[in-house]
Amino acid sequence: MVAWSETARRIERWILPPECIVCQAPVGGTGDELVCDVCCARWRPIDPPFCATCGEPTPLGLACRVCADWPPDFGPVRSAVQLDESVRQLVHRFKYQGWRRLAEPMAARMAPLVRDFGDADLVPIPLARSRRRIRGYNQAAELAGAVARITGQPVRPARLRRVRDTPTQTRLAPEARRANLAEAFAAGANARPALLIDDVFTTGATLFSAAQELLDQGADRVGAVTFARAELPLAGSARRAGRVSRFSPS
Ligand SMILES: [Zn+2]
Ligand SMILES: [Zn+2]
Repeated sequence: MVAWSETARRIERWILPPECIVCQAPVGGTGDELVCDVCCARWRPIDPPFCATCGEPTPLGLACRVCADWPPDFGPVRSAVQLDESVRQLVHRFKYQGWRRLAEPMAARMAPLVRDFGDADLVPIPLARSRRRIRGYNQAAELAGAVARITGQPVRPARLRRVRDTPTQTRLAPEARRANLAEAFAAGANARPALLIDDVFTTGATLFSAAQELLDQGADRVGAVTFARAELPLAGSARRAGRVSRFSPS
């Protein structure tokens, strides 16, 4: 019997021409890839220097402000690619337009960072129940599953639950995000190291809150890997300033 996922894939291929969903160029090989090699190669990694704990780029050698008050056992946190406009569109399709299979190319970029953390349960950030009902799936769980198929690590979504629905985070300032998330998660007692998996690192407030709960429940160490990372406004302007001075005549 053909597995349902394979059937869905065949239907998808039949309905949709095999073209890259980002640039619409024809995709080669089996025609099974959603994103062409050229578009994947355009995803830019997070360039050093970055903070050893939270992965935030630290241009001009500025001290990191993102993780100053994180619990000492939380980290490292790493992200695979920069959230530029094309990656933003891709994540949007993945999250809101049902393109669950995008988890595969995204996970391929996350897997080396996941391996770097070492032995750990992969724990997807749980979605609020109301949002999960609307969306039908949790994008973080899709990513964790796809990463696990590459690294062979166990996925343990049950280690972390959302205990209350939080209002949407997108328009909140970092401090407000953290207050918004206080006691949003619950975990059972478990000493196994945990690696949180999510799609985008924005301010780190969600990861911080989830990690705090896992550590409170005895997790030996907690890290996180996200697919993309949003640039904080300050870091962006500092980097641009650095770029200007490096290339301007002295
Ligand atoms: Zn493409
Ligand atoms: Zn940091």
